Amino acid sequence: MIALPTDKVRIDGDCILWVAGQYKPSGSPMMRVNGRTRRGHRAVYEDTFGPLAPDVCVFRSCQQAACLEPSHMWSGTRADKKRWDREADHTVVPERMIRHV
Ligand SMILES: [Zn+2]
Repeated sequence: MIALPTDKVRIDGDCILWVAGQYKPSGSPMMRVNGRTRRGHRAVYEDTFGPLAPDVCVFRSCQQAACLEPSHMWSGTRADKKRWDREADHTVVPERMIRHV
């Protein structure tokens, strides 16, 4: 797994929140991985679950933009993400959501 620098994260309940560089305005974590600046969610997701297709989105069941806890991450199409963002109850991940494990 990608080693997250302890001075750049804060534990908040079950979440690992990135407190260093963020992509504005979404608040998505940005990090250096092997000399490249990457979106933190994609880097951690790929490191944990395997490669992501470019058109597949990563999103978080905890709805914390800065969270990098892999078990909170799911992936799906942009249409899945729009539907997910409209859901009132974000505690249940619909079965239709794709998880690239
Ligand atoms: Zn989380």
